[in-house]
Amino acid sequence: MADVCDDSDAINEAFVERGVKAAQASLTFRHLTPTGVCHNSRCEADVEIGKLFCDNQCADEHGRFERLRSNSGTRH
Ligand SMILES: [Zn+2]
Repeated sequence: MADVCDDSDAINEAFVERGVKAAQASLTFRHLTPTGVCHNSRCEADVEIGKLFCDNQCADEHGRFERLRSNSGTRH
């Protein structure tokens, strides 16, 4: 029975982690406006209305790029 509990904990953790990441992603990209085109400048594929990116990979890649840019831009 302990194994079953461990498994469901792992699943819950993965689920929570995904939710947190999704929330962080939407915060990160709040300043972007859906244009019908993927915001990843290396992709620029057509996306559904209201979406910023064609998939999570593009959102991830763009987020990493934005973070790098903002990190290098905020030197005190
Ligand atoms: Zn894309």
